[in-house]
Amino acid sequence: MKVVLATKNTGKAKEIGRILEGSGVEIISLEGFANVELPPETGKTMEENALLKARAAAEATGLPALADDSGLEVDYLGGAPGVYSARYSGEKATDEENWKKLLRELEGVEAEKRTARFRCALALVGFDENEYLFEGVFEGVIAEAPRGKNGFGYDPVFIPLGSGRTAAELAPDEKNRISHRANALEALKAFLDSRK
Ligand code: IMP
Repeated sequence: MKVVLATKNTGKAKEIGRILEGSGVEIISLEGFANVELPPETGKTMEENALLKARAAAEATGLPALADDSGLEVDYLGGAPGVYSARYSGEKATDEENWKKLLRELEGVEAEKRTARFRCALALVGFDENEYLFEGVFEGVIAEAPRGKNGFGYDPVFIPLGSGRTAAELAPDEKNRISHRANALEALKAFLDSRK
């Protein structure tokens, strides 16, 4: 079954395609559909945003569509930046500006109170008459200072649970096996297997 991934990010499409190998799903990127506009992420939750994007892609292409939305939840900040992770320090914020703001907000906060998680919501629309949501989490703590060069976003300041390294110090393959996206995709895979 061909499924279109509601992202213009080809790197993401490739990564997700790799994880879903053997699941009977062939991921196609939106790249081939130049005229498809993804809606602005106006939802109040990651689930809503994932559904908005998947619905738009399914409607525009006539194919089943998959969309993901993710973010970082920091317990000490009541779950912020959450759905606003990409624009935490402003509309056009860079990754570095965002994690710098996060470190400022957590200045002086002791290690035990720096718990956080990445969360990924994955929506599948157009598979049948229902809409499906899958979720994955990636638990960890926020570091005192950035370390590492890999990954993106908050990776330099996120230490996966039980790891001495930040997510930006993990090899890409290593992170891709344990991340929130990987976990959400595993849930999707289990669902697709159950429908075979
Ligand atoms: P998206 O929904 O996957 O585009 O993620 C939204 C924002 O959440 C990104 O711009 C990052 O700031 C943050 N984020 C999501 N996933 C990750 C990750 O794996 N590492 C670091 N930051 C992430």
